[in-house]
Amino acid sequence: MVNRADIGVIGGSGLYSLLDDAQEVELTTPYGPPSDVITVGRIGARSVAFLPRHGRDHRHPPHRIPYRANLWALRSLGVRQVLAPSAVGSLKAEHGPGAIVVPDQLVDRTSGRVQTYYDAGGAVHVSFADPYCPTGRAVAVSAARSGGWDIVDGGTLVVIEGPRFSTRAESQWFARNGWTIVGMTGFPEAVLARELALCYTSLSLVTDHDAGVEAGEGVTHEEVLRFFATNVTKMRSLVADAVEALPKERTCACGSALDGIKLPFDLP
Ligand SMILES: [Zn+2]
Repeated sequence: MVNRADIGVIGGSGLYSLLDDAQEVELTTPYGPPSDVITVGRIGARSVAFLPRHGRDHRHPPHRIPYRANLWALRSLGVRQVLAPSAVGSLKAEHGPGAIVVPDQLVDRTSGRVQTYYDAGGAVHVSFADPYCPTGRAVAVSAARSGGWDIVDGGTLVVIEGPRFSTRAESQWFARNGWTIVGMTGFPEAVLARELALCYTSLSLVTDHDAGVEAGEGVTHEEVLRFFATNVTKMRSLVADAVEALPKERTCACGSALDGIKLPFDLP
C-alpha cells in the first residue's frame, strides 16, 4: 500500500503546508468517515498523515467531531504515534497566550460523547491512569523548548463539552482544583487513541485566559483569532520538529495497552 504513515497529526488546517509529496486519501471506517480527507506525506524522513480535526471548512463543532472514525482511520493507515495540537484557555494567571502546555493529566467534563470502541462483545478496560505517551511528551517538550516557546511541561487539561465556553464559576472551580488548561477536543480523542494502542501527545497552545482567571487580560474573540493566525507558522515548525524527533521504534507502554485483553474485533 502506497499511502501509509507512521505518525498522525490531528490539528488545525493551518498545518497542511507541513507535508512534502502530499497525497490525499479518502477513506471510511466502521464508524463512518473521518472529519475530512486525510493528507499523507513526508516531513523529513518521516511519513505523516494529517487530519484536520474540525474538517477543512470547520464543519464539525467540538462535540460533533467523529472522534472514533478519526483515530481508526489513522491507525488503518499505519499510524502508531499521534500528535494533537489544539487551542486551549489557560486556568493559570502565569501561563498566558503563547504558552505551550504539554499536559500529563486529563479531566473529562464532557457529556454524551461516545468514548469507546468497545461497547459490544465483552468488556475491555484499558488503563488510562497516565493518558499521554511519556515519549511523545518528552519529545514535544524538548522541541518546544528548542523552538523558544514558553513551555509548560505537565499539567492537567480539563475537557468541557462545549460548544459554549465555561461560566466564570466553572472556570474558578477548575482553577481551584489545580487544573491547568481547558479545551473542548482532547477527550475522547486521548482515550480512543489508547483503546487502539496508539501513542497520543497533546500540544496545547494557550490562546487566552479562561473566564475565571481574574489576573487575565480579558482578551476579545478577535484578539484570540489574530493571535492564533500569527502563531500558525511557529506552531507548524514545532509540529515538524516534534515529528522528526519521535522515535522510529516505540519503547513506551502505549503499544501494549491491549496486551492480554480479548478484543471483540481485530484492530486495523
Ligand atoms: Zn507511547
